[in-house]
This record gives sequence, structure tokens and C-alpha cells, in this order.
Amino acid sequence: MRLNIKKEKQKLSPGERTDKNILGLGYGVVLLFMCLIVYMVYFLAVQREEIIGNPYNNPRLDKFSSQVERGRILANDGTVLAETRTGENGEESRFYPLGDVFAHVTGYSTRGKTGLESMANFYLLSSHVNLLSQGMAKLSGRKNPGDQVVTTLDAGLQQAAYNALGDRKGAVVVMEPSTGRILAMVSKPGFDPNMVEADWESLVSSDSTEARLLNRAAQGLYPPGSVFKMVAVLAYIRQHPDDYDQFRFDCDGYFEHGDYTIQCYHGNAHGSQDLSQAFANSCNGAFAAIGLELAPGFLEDTAQSLLFGQDLPVDMAYTQSRFSMGAEAEEWEILQTSIGQGLTQVTPLHIALITAAVANGGTLMKPCLLSSVENAAGDEVRTFRSEAWGQMMTLREAEILGGMMRQVVTEGTGSALREADYTAAGKTGSAQFETGRESHAWFTGFAPAEDPRIAVTVIVEEGGSGGQTAAPVAKSIFDAYFSPSGGRP
Ligand SMILES: [Zn+2]
Repeated sequence: MRLNIKKEKQKLSPGERTDKNILGLGYGVVLLFMCLIVYMVYFLAVQREEIIGNPYNNPRLDKFSSQVERGRILANDGTVLAETRTGENGEESRFYPLGDVFAHVTGYSTRGKTGLESMANFYLLSSHVNLLSQGMAKLSGRKNPGDQVVTTLDAGLQQAAYNALGDRKGAVVVMEPSTGRILAMVSKPGFDPNMVEADWESLVSSDSTEARLLNRAAQGLYPPGSVFKMVAVLAYIRQHPDDYDQFRFDCDGYFEHGDYTIQCYHGNAHGSQDLSQAFANSCNGAFAAIGLELAPGFLEDTAQSLLFGQDLPVDMAYTQSRFSMGAEAEEWEILQTSIGQGLTQVTPLHIALITAAVANGGTLMKPCLLSSVENAAGDEVRTFRSEAWGQMMTLREAEILGGMMRQVVTEGTGSALREADYTAAGKTGSAQFETGRESHAWFTGFAPAEDPRIAVTVIVEEGGSGGQTAAPVAKSIFDAYFSPSGGRP
């Protein structure tokens, strides 16, 4: 059989062989052409966004930036956060009018790209000006003006958060629970994004412990301290859905278990506590007892349902929170973990998401920073809609937890917000991280309690008491939001 075929082939005349070769070549060309078309379509439809969006694809990026002048980044009221300026010799530079107030969230675009400069890179290097303008630009050798990105950031609230943190290190996240819109995101210490190139060496020098370039709001890992009691109390409610309100604990300031002692803040005795009171007063003894009572692995399951150790549904650079206590944990670890010490570490952004979910009836909205894209003339090209991530907890759980957070303000450690004109709810935390140093101060909460419109999460590094240091920072931000001059609906 094989011989026959060989024979057949040998019979072909030289002309026939050429025809066959041409035919083969023709098929090959068609195939290549089709591959090219498929690739082009794929590139245009799918990959282009990724390629331009990827800060490391510099050669391709350069190609777009040689034709398009990088567009502006705007706050939700049109305040310019970043724009491109062209010098006398045609050299371009990026200018950030508000300097370090928006530094981490806006980012920079020299030495790589960060923040919105990275997230919105594709849009900033796309141009949707009309064809006439494009033609004119081409003829005159000018670049097309890139699209401008309108963000969800509120310039007034960002400034209020920046001012409220003062000279302290720490971070603030402000969100709209019903939409996931991030209204403000501050990290301190900061840097001047206009000076990144000039200051680069000192910004990244290894002897700097300041970590100025780090966006602490999304990337800073901290022990949660007592804000973790939101997780522990939810675990207890889940394990006791019908009789959680029967919980009682007698606090004398010190909880002793075997060789271990858990102390309430400054050894204060809270006396007889039900679950809401223990939460409102942040009674460590009660929560140590809850930790021991919970079924093995139950706290971990609850933490996972709140996205500990999981990816967060966000587009920006962030760090995953860590929760490491499994079903086999030893008792000292259970005691420490249930009061938010131990090995658990969280980002302020993650705590903000949990808070926003409580405020939004258990549904977590995907956090977003982009509102719309406009061409350089201000005509809308694209809008971004709010999207739900899913149910972080049930509506009932959110209502119970929200009620307890309200009690923190009316009767507990959140007294800094008690006299406010609006009804705030929240949880304080004072997280120890190193013997002999002040605790990190936390506050996370929302307002108004009965119809939440805004959620605020604050950490002040080495701020001591969450109620005394972080809650007043949050209050300044709530005050700005609810002030008549805030200009909001
Ligand atoms: Zn206590």
C-alpha cells in the first residue's frame, strides 16, 4: 500500500507538482491570514485592554502614548486630580494639583504606575474625540487628547480625612455602602506625586521605615484588635441563632483560663454583660469565653465567609487579610484570636468592606473607584454601574450586628460620636502589636444608623485607644459629609 502511494507521487509531472505546491502555499497563506484575523480580533476585543492596562508592557504602551496625550483624572465633582502638561519643547509631564492629599489613590505614572494611574491606564490612553479633531491633530502633528476618567472620589471628604489624620501614620477608607463607591482613601505618611521622579531614591531607600509609597488603606496589614469582635459576635450569633440574647458573662476585668489571663482594657471590670453589652463595651473576657465556646473551626468558617484569606472583589492593588486559626488551634491561640490579637491581620479596606456589608443589609457591593469615562470635550464615553458581590451575611445577621454597632455609640466605647447630629454606629479597636508600644487605634462604622449612607474605617498607628483617637477622626469625616455645606443631596 505504501509502495503504491509512493509510485503515484513519482508519476506526477513537474507542472503538476508546481500546481500542488502553489495550492499548498495558497492554503497556507489563507490559514495564516485567518490566524492573523482571529488574533487581531482577539487582540482588539480582549487583550488590548489587558496589554494597555498592564504597566509592564512598556513597548506597546509607548506606542499608544506616542499618539495620545494621557488624559485627566477627575474627582466626582470635576476637581482635577491629575493632568498632562506640555513644556515649551513639547516634553510632557504629569501634574497633580492636590499633591499628597490624593497621592496613594491617584498614584503616579513615572517609575511604573500605581493607583488610578494604573487602574485607568487603558482609558487615559484611549481617545474618543471626534474624527474631525483626530484628522486635524494628525495633520498638524499633534497628539489626540486622551479620555478623562471621572472617579468616585469626593474631594471634600478626601481633604477632611487627610486633615483629620493630621501628622499621624495610618489610613482612612470612606465608602457608600449601597453602591460600593469609594469616596475617600487616605494613607499616611504620604508623598508628593509631583516629586516621585526627583525623590525616588529616598522614597524607596531601604533604611526608610516610613514606607511612604505603601497605600496603607489597601495594602497595610494590621492586627484587627477589637474590630475583630464583629467577626466573633457574628460567629456566636450564627451558632446561637435563636438564643444569642441569652448570653451572660460576669466580668471582673480579668479572664483566667488555665495558665492564661485575658485582661479587659486597663483591667476595667464590666460586671454582668449580655452579648450586646459585651460588644458595646468591648469586653475581652466575654469574647475570650465566646472563643472557647464556639465549635472548632466555626470562627474560621465565619472569617472566611467575610473574605478573610480570600481575594477581595477590587481592581486596585491590595493585600489579602490573614486568618490562620484552624480547628486544631491551641487554647492560648483561641483566646488571643477571639479578641482580635493572635496572628490575624487585616487591611483597613477589608474592614471597610465588612462594615459596608453590615450597613447594606448584608449585601456587599463591589468597591469601585471609576464612575465614568469622558472624551476630552466632556462627552460621556462609558459609565460604570454598581455591582453586588453577593451576600456576606443574611439580612437578619446584618440587622442584629448593625444594632449592636449602634449600641457601641449610644452606650459603649464609641462615645465620641454620641452627641453627633446624626445617628452613627460602629466598633472601636485598640490593637496591640508590640510590647512597650502604643496600640493601633481603630474605628469602623456607618451613619445614619437607620438608613446608612456612608461607611468610614480609620486606623491610627500607635494611636492608643480606638475610642479616643480613631473615633474622633471618623467623626470629622461624618461631620463633613453631613454638614449643610457639604453640598451633597
Ligand atoms: Zn470586660
